Amino acid sequence: MLKLILILIFCCLSFLVHSQRNCGTEPYKQNIIRNYPELSSRYGRTNSDSLLNEKLSRLTGMIKIPVVVHVVYNASEENLPDSLIKSQISQLNLDFSAKNKDIINVPEIFKDRIADCQIEFVLHSINRIKTNKRQFLIQSRKDGNGYKVYSPSYEPIKFSYLGGVDALPCTQYLNIWVGNITDGSDGQLLGYAAFPGGLCEYDGVVIYYKCFGVPSPYRPYDKGRTLTHELAHWLNLRHIGGDTYGGCGDDLVADTPPQKGGSDEGNKGNGYGQNYGCPNHPMVYNPECPETVAEMFMNYMDYVDDACMCMFTKKQKDRMRSLFVEGGDRSHFMNNDVANRQLLVSDNRRTDIFTPTIVEFKKYFRCKPIHDTCRYGFVFWTEIDGAKEYNVLAKKVKSNIWKTITTTNNYIKLGGLGSHILYEIKVQAVLTDESQSAESTSFVFNLKGNNPFSRFRKLQLIR
Ligand SMILES: [Zn+2]
Repeated sequence: MLKLILILIFCCLSFLVHSQRNCGTEPYKQNIIRNYPELSSRYGRTNSDSLLNEKLSRLTGMIKIPVVVHVVYNASEENLPDSLIKSQISQLNLDFSAKNKDIINVPEIFKDRIADCQIEFVLHSINRIKTNKRQFLIQSRKDGNGYKVYSPSYEPIKFSYLGGVDALPCTQYLNIWVGNITDGSDGQLLGYAAFPGGLCEYDGVVIYYKCFGVPSPYRPYDKGRTLTHELAHWLNLRHIGGDTYGGCGDDLVADTPPQKGGSDEGNKGNGYGQNYGCPNHPMVYNPECPETVAEMFMNYMDYVDDACMCMFTKKQKDRMRSLFVEGGDRSHFMNNDVANRQLLVSDNRRTDIFTPTIVEFKKYFRCKPIHDTCRYGFVFWTEIDGAKEYNVLAKKVKSNIWKTITTTNNYIKLGGLGSHILYEIKVQAVLTDESQSAESTSFVFNLKGNNPFSRFRKLQLIR
């Protein structure tokens, strides 16, 4: 019997080795600190500050956060349906309010620590973008001299000219990108988050498309907990075992027991690592934490399977909510004072190149009586730094077939226009390295109007 149990344990372990949760947030954060050491103290903030606690006690009621989900897809299976996205946001709200069905699995000794965080994520919009990139390489783990974080090329999914989608203003929205991501390692990167206090264009979370939504097909990460976990990082929670390299880990939260330390890199030290799979309670693994009678592996901030994580604690709630008090890193969600939002670090390293915007339409009729061959128009768009040329996509509104014209100018002449026909045009910048921006918003126009001979008439932008 013992032998059978050992074989079973061995089988489970080898299964787990291939399916370990891979959260990219900690290595992402470490890289940021290497380049922006001043952020380190912010990440380590605790709630011991009495002024903060006083402010926190006055922060009552629900905190609502508008969410935009950017679905960045290439293969059609990556273009997740609305229903799946809504199911994910629902699960997220259940988890943050302790209304998740599996909350009953919290062991007796931790039950009085369960928290309804009173944070609600409100789906504002779903932004679907088809990309020509089959996969986004997130280079959060790369190390070495001269490594820079906050470079768009390390996080292409967040930038339209690299095939991703630009963030909506982080002062007003939580940006969630969902796509086919990899960090280049063997373990599938499930997601990662930006901690508070960073640069706006990079703020938000990124989730692997297969583990987004409930149920997703990606067992054992099929219950939407990857987003719950990553959003808690976005709200300043660390992994439950701390992210020390081995030893007895502390997450700076008073009501979670110290337990296994060990980020991935820590594994090289003592091999404790995080908790994976679905452990049995009570579970004590780390002899360096003699005070701990049971690890709180069922906390969302451990690394266990989706089916086995089910709670936040009251002090975790406090740590998250303290971001929203006056002066907190996410307080702009409370007061709408978006203009006064100060970023901690100024960014002079970026070379963003944005999506063009069509700004003007000029039309000319050269002869009377007017016939199609003597009508033409010019469409102008914003010039994009670093663009070597622009792809212009044009069609009749009623047609499904786009014509593509390439030009090095920031305008194009369109000839032979029919007087009663609606046309649609979009523009895309092409960089010297052949990467492309997203397509501009469509501009729809025709040649009719009260004064068809007037120049410089701007037509209405549609959509
Ligand atoms: Zn994590």
